[in-house]
Amino acid sequence: MKHDWRSAIRRLIFSLALAFVVGWLFNKLTLAIMLTLAVYLTWHLHQLYKLQQWLTSRGADEPPTSHGLWGSIFDDVYRLQHRHQKSKNKLKAMLKRVQDSTSALKDGVLMVDSHGNLEWWNQAANALLGLQNSKDIGQPITNLVRNPDFKAYFEKAHYESPLEMASPINHDAVLQFHITLFGRKDRLIVCRDISHLHQLEAMRQDFVANASHELRTPLTVISGYLETFIEYKETLPARWGRALTQMHEQSQRMQNLINDLLVLSRLETSNAPDQTQVNIPNLLSALVADAKSLSGDKQHNILLECEDVSLIGTDTELSSAFGNLIFNAVKYTPASGEINVKWWQDTTGLHLEVKDNGLGIDHKHIPRLTERFYRADPSRHSDTGGTGLGLAIVKHTLLRHDGHLHISSVLGKGSCFTCHFPASRKVTNAKVING
Ligand code: ADP
Repeated sequence: MKHDWRSAIRRLIFSLALAFVVGWLFNKLTLAIMLTLAVYLTWHLHQLYKLQQWLTSRGADEPPTSHGLWGSIFDDVYRLQHRHQKSKNKLKAMLKRVQDSTSALKDGVLMVDSHGNLEWWNQAANALLGLQNSKDIGQPITNLVRNPDFKAYFEKAHYESPLEMASPINHDAVLQFHITLFGRKDRLIVCRDISHLHQLEAMRQDFVANASHELRTPLTVISGYLETFIEYKETLPARWGRALTQMHEQSQRMQNLINDLLVLSRLETSNAPDQTQVNIPNLLSALVADAKSLSGDKQHNILLECEDVSLIGTDTELSSAFGNLIFNAVKYTPASGEINVKWWQDTTGLHLEVKDNGLGIDHKHIPRLTERFYRADPSRHSDTGGTGLGLAIVKHTLLRHDGHLHISSVLGKGSCFTCHFPASRKVTNAKVING
């Protein structure tokens, strides 16, 4: 290119020199120079015209033939275009591959722009959500997936957990939505049919509920007979007496377990019954009295501090959940320990705190404590008679009351279990909600 520039300048100087000599010879110096410059300019204009014609023909053809500076400009532009076309083809092929692979996906994938309008989606999304390729592009996604839960989930912009809801086109199917934010508030939505998982989960719940129900009657009979036999313990050899007592204790444990399993499956499967004003101070006083008798010789110091606020909920469920927390405090606090039960309200809502200075829990167990049968330290449970289901019941009860459980604990120092309820659950008058 540098070389071409030099020879273009050399050619201009040579032409001007020639014009100068000819003009001087014929005594028409100005005319000769003007003519030379005009020819020079016309030639350049012609080259520019050729370039423009070639570019407007989208450079599909070979470049126009030329020489010197213009020849190398044409060649360079041609080479650039060639390179650009090559990377365009490469990108196109890659995009096609991505589109082919997402089309083959069974999960629906949708791209939504920052205004919430549908930009792109795959075949599976058509089948799962009833979208139509031609019509729906650019439409707001909340108009296409018409469901208040989806709208609320889409607009909240925090997508830690997925949303599960009935399919908008087939009410027997259950869909799960995962949204990921990318770019400038664009969203990638992945939607999958989880009806099969739901059926399995329902089958599992039914199985546990049915098995527990079926076991209840025979166990009641066995336990009843054992109780009767124990009454005649004195007439039996000591060895038999001990065995009967142990059998009775174990049958009691099994009954507790079955009762807790039934409570859990009711909490999981049934709709919340009509919820009414629950007088929490009365409920807590009764539970604290029970806790004191459970403490018995251990002489725990159980204190109740309570504001006169009621909550909208189901009293049996709340009593069982709060009871689990208070009785756990008694079970896992050594004799003469302190247990504080506090019920209060503030601007964020209503709260119940059950605090003890007992055994405490290693922090590594805390995230898993509300799982069924999860025990922080199985060795402590031989004498507590617990079922391992208490905190799972608490968690499910709180979910049905729009609440959540917070656990903090230090091993060897004590634990604090706090139930938080939203302020909307506070009773202002005799308000009743249907669940
Ligand atoms: P369980 O019926 O065996 O007590 P829970 O579900 O009520 O089962 O409790 C689960 C776990 O939480 C248990 O392993 C127990 O060790 C621990 N835990 C519950 N409450 C307390 C507490 N107040 N102090 C120490 N550990 C507790």
